[in-house]
Amino acid sequence: MNITSIKGIGEKTAALFSKLNVTDTADLLNFYPADYDHFGPMIMLNEMKEGDVCAVRVHVLSSPAIRYVRGMSILSFNVTDGSDEMNVVYFNAPYLRNSIKKGEECVFRGRATLRGKKLSFNNPRKYKIEEYEALSDTDQPIYHTTKGLTSLAIQKAIRKAYEAEMAAGFTYQGSPLFDRIPAEIIARRGLMPFHEAILNIHMPQSRDKLIEARNRLAYQEFYEYILHMLDRGIMRPKSNYPMIEVAETGRLLEGMPFTLTPDQAEVWDAIRADLTGGNAMLRLLQGDVGSGKTIIAVLSLLMAACNGYQGAFMAPTEVLAVQHYDTIREMTGKYGLPFKPVLLTGLVKGSIRKDVLKTIANGEANLIIGTHALFQEAVEYSRLGMVVTDEQHRFGVLQREALMQKGEVPHVLIMSATPIPRTLAMILYGDLDVSTIHTMPAGRLPIKNCVVDTGYRPTAYKFVIDEVHAGSQVYIICPQVEAGELPGVENVTEYAQNLRIVMPEDVRIGVLHGQMKSTVKDKVMDEFARGDIDVLVSTTVVEVGVNVPNATVMYVENAERFGLAQLHQLRGRVGRSDKQSYCIFMMNSASDKSRERLNILLNSNDGFEIASKDMELRGPGDIFGIRQSGDVIFRIGDIYQDSELITWAREDVAGLMS
Ligand code: ADP
Ligand code: MG
Repeated sequence: MNITSIKGIGEKTAALFSKLNVTDTADLLNFYPADYDHFGPMIMLNEMKEGDVCAVRVHVLSSPAIRYVRGMSILSFNVTDGSDEMNVVYFNAPYLRNSIKKGEECVFRGRATLRGKKLSFNNPRKYKIEEYEALSDTDQPIYHTTKGLTSLAIQKAIRKAYEAEMAAGFTYQGSPLFDRIPAEIIARRGLMPFHEAILNIHMPQSRDKLIEARNRLAYQEFYEYILHMLDRGIMRPKSNYPMIEVAETGRLLEGMPFTLTPDQAEVWDAIRADLTGGNAMLRLLQGDVGSGKTIIAVLSLLMAACNGYQGAFMAPTEVLAVQHYDTIREMTGKYGLPFKPVLLTGLVKGSIRKDVLKTIANGEANLIIGTHALFQEAVEYSRLGMVVTDEQHRFGVLQREALMQKGEVPHVLIMSATPIPRTLAMILYGDLDVSTIHTMPAGRLPIKNCVVDTGYRPTAYKFVIDEVHAGSQVYIICPQVEAGELPGVENVTEYAQNLRIVMPEDVRIGVLHGQMKSTVKDKVMDEFARGDIDVLVSTTVVEVGVNVPNATVMYVENAERFGLAQLHQLRGRVGRSDKQSYCIFMMNSASDKSRERLNILLNSNDGFEIASKDMELRGPGDIFGIRQSGDVIFRIGDIYQDSELITWAREDVAGLMS
């Protein structure tokens, strides 16, 4: 059903949903929450602790008063529950004055913030008592939003879509709630039925059911993926792009300011053997962030170009594609390489795009760098012999398959900074070769790390200022873009505003997040890369691949909300030169468990070890924290956490086949 068939969704709202790639009820039901907000039981004012997100049932003691400070309105009033009194404040929301009445009893939920010597709430959410009682002790979904569409509006739409589809019945194939896993497997594995899983992922009836639902949906992702993989048959065909050794690659290596590390050299040997061996290469190159994968990609693409073929280099984001393009163009000039590179991303439009497509089709361009746009239908290659994907394993494999269906068998190199165990790689990708770069280029100082709580913030700011004054640059990461969805979680927008007040004027602060237009994002990233921004306040969009060697501090707010593998990726954005680099992991709500988890980062710099320890500590039942784009292969499944589900799916698909 088209979502406009849902009551309350008109053309305008539908247009907003389409920005989230949601056009029908099936999309809507499969639009899983990005996170959950756990609503705890109400507590007494005298039990509140600084930093805690909590709900209190109180009487309003005074009528709200408004004052103005530096153009900002501050609405404030006192509340009590008998155990203590507290001040509640709303910034820039004078219109709330009439909705809060002296003497009324209600529930406020917010983060306990210390003001002077007393705890208070800033901008808490207000609830009627019955309303909060219904929410108490539940997990409420948080959705990725887009401007004009709140998480709550998405939640409501999903609820209606669910009801409509349930009413229409879910036992026929066309229903988005139809269970595609055979009943026998569901019974044997004890999986939650699909319609129930969809219900619980969006409207959890309990924490246990939510976990069951999550596992069921993750299983399904793996199951369908493996089914698809096995279905596509042979893995190692002859290549129709055979290559011979060329002199240019050796010449480039001689000209470069560094020599390959032994691991890089070994990988490069293996790739050359693949490319000249007659069969199509399918190789996964794993190497921690900063280990030097890009040069391997460039060498492989150079070899293809010198053999008269085109190469495609696909990056996960616009920013990274442009960075690769710039790097390669610079190298082309500097070392006289025979590349004719073009950039093809969603942003290349109009007549320029037409020209680019033409040079790809007529073979004039021999190196095409871009994002997913590289493999849209409108792109016709003339002789695509080599495909390199950066941080997009799954896409790399699927892409090759799509090309093979067209009778093309290019060589494929898949690069990843998120290593996966070999056995899992075999299950997920079938029969592929794996190379790993274990050691970092020499001359790097180990990054200094610390895990701290918010009491350390003034010291951290001073440190940031000192680093900036010493000529270095700083990343500050916040989990969300704007205030609102999750209480107690820092957001880029307000954080940067506040930083402009507390930092000296000569510290230039920039903002970056995924909801910005790509052109704006690129501009900001470019300014940061050129050193025109000192402190970049960003979401995890900088996680993948970006290279700014002059950045020496990675400062992460709400570090407890991120997976360790993701934090490790973020850490990889610094330590990219011979300057000393630092990581500050700030915990905004400190539990012993999150400290224990984050301490793993202090003790290890090995991405693989970190990911597997994180898995042990989190356990397979744990609910996903904030996940953004980056190198997420599956939407809900997690190749580290879910190895058991993957093994099940593998066995079940094999059983089905035989
Ligand atoms: P990643 O594996 O994360 O993609 P990059 O390819 O971006 O890493 O490399 C990180 C930095 O290390 C780059 O500035 C690159 O020029 C440099 N680098 C790569 N290989 C070497 C090497 N063998 N010796 C010294 N520096 C190197
Ligand atoms: Mg890279």
